[in-house]
Amino acid sequence: MLDEIKFAIDGTQIKANKGDTILKAALKHGIYIPHLCDHPDLEPFGGCRLCMVEIKGKGLSISCKVPVEEGLEIITESPEVNKVRRIAAELLIASHHVDCLECARNTDCKLQDVASYIGIEEGRLKRLKRVIKDLPIDDSNPFFIRDLNKCVLCGICIRTCGEILNVGAIDFAFRGTGTLVATVGGKPILQSRCVSCGECVARCPVGALVPKNAERPTREVSTVCTYCGVGCGIKLGVRGGRIVRVRGDVNSPANRGNLCVKGRFGYDFVNHPDRLTSPLIKRNGAFVEATFEEALDLVASKLTDYKGDQFATFASARITTEDNYVVQKFTRAVMGTNNLDHCARL
Ligand code: SF4
Ligand code: SF4
Ligand code: SF4
Repeated sequence: MLDEIKFAIDGTQIKANKGDTILKAALKHGIYIPHLCDHPDLEPFGGCRLCMVEIKGKGLSISCKVPVEEGLEIITESPEVNKVRRIAAELLIASHHVDCLECARNTDCKLQDVASYIGIEEGRLKRLKRVIKDLPIDDSNPFFIRDLNKCVLCGICIRTCGEILNVGAIDFAFRGTGTLVATVGGKPILQSRCVSCGECVARCPVGALVPKNAERPTREVSTVCTYCGVGCGIKLGVRGGRIVRVRGDVNSPANRGNLCVKGRFGYDFVNHPDRLTSPLIKRNGAFVEATFEEALDLVASKLTDYKGDQFATFASARITTEDNYVVQKFTRAVMGTNNLDHCARL
């Protein structure tokens, strides 16, 4: 059992697990502390300085890096804390392309959360504005767009790509106000080591990394990815009968929320007009639509001509485990052969 630590946030007694950071413990108890660069899947970074708190007797500290200790007294709101947070937030917003109504992340944006919590004053922002970024949008990837004009330099994409994927396609480049997230040599992301998994897109807290053709779903359906035998849990975002988004199911033991490029972005086949939705039988040299009964009767009548090793089955990773079980049973018990293979070996 995890050791339990007792401490106080704004006078309220809190219990947390040993090793939890102050920010993690606060969020677990529904206490909001502004933050942008922290993510539960990643190591603490301490880059945005927004999660500043006061620890009684110890002074100011960033709460995403400090582990809880027995008896600590944390103050999340004080003139000093607010001053530091405000400056950090204003510097970010002053160089940000704020076009929320046109942004795919509008109403689902961590920078909006921070701004509304802190309360931004137009006059102060104007004084801070120096150079408005005008960086070219990288739309080289077939699945997502990088608009670094909206990047808040939280480093979540970089750490995701390194810590979770072990790919390391991107890193911070340049220094000071010129700091950017870049590929090696500043090439478009498609020409980098990126494997297009979209894990960074899923974690970016703002509109700097967004899927192409992003549409907001009206409901979600839990299911399993159709692509391979790993069986990743996915949540299909559905809108008007169409799949418009896929995200990983964090509760699935197979993938714990992570997905590869196929599972995350390869869903357009479902509603594709070229998709076969009924069996086709060749009649007089041309394929014509048939019912499943007709198709199955035809296949069954043809299969009676072949027995044993005259027959082989090629099963699929895209059907369920249960269907694959039935296929091998049919091959062995009905057709009498062990000639059975699977596309996962290709
Ligand atoms: S990233 Fe957030 S703050 Fe920036 S434009 Fe988009 S919604 Fe607005
Ligand atoms: S692109 Fe997104 S995740 Fe990456 S540093 Fe910028 S804001 Fe953070
Ligand atoms: S899509 Fe995947 S591989 Fe490409 S930069 Fe993002 S995390 Fe790295």
